[in-house]
Amino acid sequence: SRYFTINEHPQGLPTRELFQLEALELPALADGEVLIRNSWLSVDPYMRGRMDGVTTYIEPFTLGEPLDGAAVGEVIESRSARFNAGDKVRHMGGWRDIAQLPAEQVEPLPEFDVPEQAYLGVLGMPGTTAWVGLNVIADMQDGDNVLVSAASGAVGSLAVQLAKAKGGTVVGIAGDQHKLDWLESKGIKAVSYKGKNARELSAALKEACPEGFDVYYENVGGDCLEAALDNLRVGARIAVCGMIARYNDDAPAAGPGNLAMLLIRRARMQGFIVFDHWEHHVDFVNEFGPRVASGEIDYQETVMNGLESLPDAFLGLFSGGNQGKMLVKL
Ligand code: NDP
Repeated sequence: SRYFTINEHPQGLPTRELFQLEALELPALADGEVLIRNSWLSVDPYMRGRMDGVTTYIEPFTLGEPLDGAAVGEVIESRSARFNAGDKVRHMGGWRDIAQLPAEQVEPLPEFDVPEQAYLGVLGMPGTTAWVGLNVIADMQDGDNVLVSAASGAVGSLAVQLAKAKGGTVVGIAGDQHKLDWLESKGIKAVSYKGKNARELSAALKEACPEGFDVYYENVGGDCLEAALDNLRVGARIAVCGMIARYNDDAPAAGPGNLAMLLIRRARMQGFIVFDHWEHHVDFVNEFGPRVASGEIDYQETVMNGLESLPDAFLGLFSGGNQGKMLVKL
């Protein structure tokens, strides 16, 4: 098995050199274990937090040990009654080509007519996160005006489509022009944050949706949050899904200067971790599997090829290198 590891905790934005590709001779399978050849590996923003060596809502990566993360692959050998060779599965033994795992840590893929890697993105953790954030945390109502940051990413691109389907004005913040074009093609008003300070971004949001927002789906933090706070309607809800602009900070950053807008607009801001709400995952997949298969839900992917491309794929998340889900194909 070839796998990536890190041997030190990064300061700030990691460099390519942080990631070491290693090889390991796997032992024979024990009773209850399966051997999987991975075909798709996921890289996700939360992995940056796991590199810091401190436990948050999830254990940190162990220096020198294989990194892990979501992956999809095919069982090539099984000593469990639950799986046969040839079964398509999802599991957390990513960042490597071959994974050896206890069968209880492996789940079969549902059988919707979608590409298998969809279970890492639109029908996986990011998709479930979009649904939970909008419906459970932000309690989105029909007709609400909704603002989403990192709106063309894995989570954001589904969040904007779910919001649009319930009516109201939906505005998405993203970086590059091709992302703005994709948003506009879905009927979403697109605003770029590039080259704008918080005040300018705030003005652009006001122009896009003068009545203000009932819901802000927060993926970025920093200036996006400050600009969003300026544009809340009374009783607005902010679902704090992520703050990717902060993940490489060396020191705590100053918060937005206008947090008092929460008070003025009687707004609520709530963070959440999707795994606390994982009971919705199966229903979510059963409802949206057919809608993804039919093309009603449009999802994008950015694919890098080969195990060696994993670090670049991961680092690309912090420079807007992806549209939709960032994936590595083996
Ligand atoms: P994305 O596919 O959205 O990839 C990250 C995107 O963020 C980039 O493409 C980039 O798009 C944007 N971005 C990166 N840095 C900045 C910055 N400094 N300022 C503005 N935009 C930036 O990733 P995911 O969909 O997987 O995750 C989105 C967010 O959701 C993250 O914050 C993540 O941590 C969070 N999350 C939280 C979960 C939870 O349980 N709470 C679960 C899953 C994800 P652009 O070109 O537009 O800049």
